[in-house]
Amino acid sequence: MSSSLRQWFARVLVLTQLINGALCWGKEGHYTVCKIAESYFEEETVAAVKKLLPKSADGDLASVCSWPDEIKHHWQWRWTSPLHYVDTPDYRCNYEYCRDCHDTHKNQDRCVTGAIFNYTMQLMSASENSDTIVHYNLTEALMFLSHFIGDIHQPLHVGFLGDEGGNTITVRWYRRKTNLHHVSVCYRMLKEKVIFPDWINYSYDLPMMKVWDNMIIESALKTYYNKSLPLMIEALQANLTNDWSNDVPLWESCQLNQTACPNPYASESINLACKYAYRNATPGTTLGDDYFLSRLPIVEKRLAQGGIRLAATLNRIFSSKPKHAGS
Ligand SMILES: [Zn+2]
Repeated sequence: MSSSLRQWFARVLVLTQLINGALCWGKEGHYTVCKIAESYFEEETVAAVKKLLPKSADGDLASVCSWPDEIKHHWQWRWTSPLHYVDTPDYRCNYEYCRDCHDTHKNQDRCVTGAIFNYTMQLMSASENSDTIVHYNLTEALMFLSHFIGDIHQPLHVGFLGDEGGNTITVRWYRRKTNLHHVSVCYRMLKEKVIFPDWINYSYDLPMMKVWDNMIIESALKTYYNKSLPLMIEALQANLTNDWSNDVPLWESCQLNQTACPNPYASESINLACKYAYRNATPGTTLGDDYFLSRLPIVEKRLAQGGIRLAATLNRIFSSKPKHAGS
């Protein structure tokens, strides 16, 4: 085989691997959020969730929490893509529902906060009035809500419009060129040199990877948890009962007795995006230990907050205590 043909095959193989990897970006993060949430479910929530889960979940919500990412590129689900994030005006570092929650065609409510309100309302109305159940697919509503509460806690899912939440900013992660918003399985494959190291440089031109969705978690798993996600989840759960125990009631609470309150979560995220994600990460920067070590505590806390708030929201939806409006 000629060397140019070999190089061409190499590029195609890298591209295929990266696309496959991109389908499951953020899986660890969403699994963690939902696993933490499960341990805070009230009895009624455990029963309601079990009843709604698809058979494939085998009774475990965490196993289907990445489902909305897996389907969003299929043509019949493409309408769900804008529901994973909300863009805010460049450099303002704040979020406003009426100003920001729309898709690119300016359809109001079509963003991650709007989706959280919508799926909460669907689950609420169905649990209050059995006649409405027929109008909604509550299994999908549960999986979307669980996923989107995870997404909204990832700071760059509430990022600047101009760079599509960090998607168009290309940086290098420990000397591998990648993309600020996602870092995914591709990184693992590249780092472990699963594919041939002599053409690894071709990955430099691929814009699909994102740092905050996956890379920081992947690096933490390797550095501190012997590549074991259950070990990382255990460590976060221990933090929740120790260092963060005083904060948990505040994280759980919802203003004005609402069932879901995603707006403050979005405000926190854009704030963190400005303070930590965008800072010292201009295009072309190499992010290494300084960035990883100072940002990891933010990622860990957001995963824990996402879990606590998902559980609190589902407990409010499925609890038999008196209910309040969803938004
Ligand atoms: Zn998502």
